[in-house]
Amino acid sequence: MTTLTNLLDLDPAQLIAYCGELGEKPFRAKQLQRWIHQFGASDFDAMTDLAKSLRDKLKTRAMIAAPAVISDHTSTDGTRKWLIDVGQGNAVETVFIPEESRGTLCISTQAGCAVNCRFCSTGKQGFNRNLSVGEIIGQLWMAEFELRRTKGIEPGPKGERQITNVVMMGMGEPLLNYEPTVTALKLMLDDNAYGLSRRRVTLSTSGVVPMIDKLSQDCAVALAVSLHASNDALRDGLVPLNKKYPLKELMAACKRYLEFAPRDFVTFEYCMLDGVNDSDQHASELLALVQGKDGVPCKFNLIPFNPFPESGLTRSNNPRIKAFAQVLMDGGIVTTIRKTRGDDIDAACGQLAGEVQDRTRVQDRMKKMAEYQEKFGKDFGRIVEISS
Ligand code: SAH
Ligand code: SF4
Repeated sequence: MTTLTNLLDLDPAQLIAYCGELGEKPFRAKQLQRWIHQFGASDFDAMTDLAKSLRDKLKTRAMIAAPAVISDHTSTDGTRKWLIDVGQGNAVETVFIPEESRGTLCISTQAGCAVNCRFCSTGKQGFNRNLSVGEIIGQLWMAEFELRRTKGIEPGPKGERQITNVVMMGMGEPLLNYEPTVTALKLMLDDNAYGLSRRRVTLSTSGVVPMIDKLSQDCAVALAVSLHASNDALRDGLVPLNKKYPLKELMAACKRYLEFAPRDFVTFEYCMLDGVNDSDQHASELLALVQGKDGVPCKFNLIPFNPFPESGLTRSNNPRIKAFAQVLMDGGIVTTIRKTRGDDIDAACGQLAGEVQDRTRVQDRMKKMAEYQEKFGKDFGRIVEISS
């Protein structure tokens, strides 16, 4: 039996090569790509401007298959969360956040995450596996056309686009699933696919320094860095990856990235943890860090911690968050406090835990985590039993 090629896995260049193998000219790949990513078509027979012979050929060799949706919830504030099946009892989450002037989709890149930040429930699952290109871009494909169907908006370039911004801030560390992430980014930017501008696509990383440099060369989209601490001792305890890539190296990488970035600042995300990283002294130390001689042009986005049962941490209170923001702003740094969205459907940052249905598979994840530790050093990640 021949396995069908999932065309969602192919970036523009790969689709041209694939069509070449079928004896077709490059413009056919463009047509095909538009059918897939602009019209949301998954049925080759619907692609009426392709020759019947080509459609028949495609039917026997290819498919357009996004991962299946397990559940679909809409919050009272309009935030919509899909739980996506990625096989073997694993699920990832995709979250749509509507705002007046834009619609943002938050995409996952891995099932679980090996970085294991102390305040993140995805990290507490351990690492399961990397998502494929089709599973990453498939989240955008599914969400854009599902949102249009819900609102009765026609597919195709003439229909009003529902997703105007993408943030890679769902489950997983995108820079530890590098190639599929970059391929998916290229599709998001391609004019024959989603045609999003680089400024409207943001990749968030916990700070994988060499990959930040690589991204600046391969596909420089807007960059957000999860900082969460004002010094190495504190960050070591919150983001274990800091032991491998400490703040000085991270700051230098951010600075280098900005030479290629579509924006002239990096966004630093900072999760506000009561009594841990939220004092005025921490804010002053941050100012010194980002404005000192190794400093980086930046904005701060303060994220009120979204608690989950086993974290043992609590959210800073609102007056504390405001006071912290004020110190940064008085120091001349643009600072925003992230509104919590989708609280009632567990769609807020760090609450994206997916569903791990089979506890025996913890063994499997432990093995994978051990492989990561071998690659990135023993301080990288920690194994935690999941409570399902
Ligand atoms: N792995 C990447 C992207 C996914 S996490 C990264 O760490 O940047 C997206 C953002 O949510 C990160 O800034 C992360 O630190 C933050 N986050 C994780 N858990 C959180 C929680 N429980 N409450 C608030 N923010 C959280
Ligand atoms: Fe992974 Fe990001 Fe969660 Fe850290 S915050 S464990 S890097 S998903």
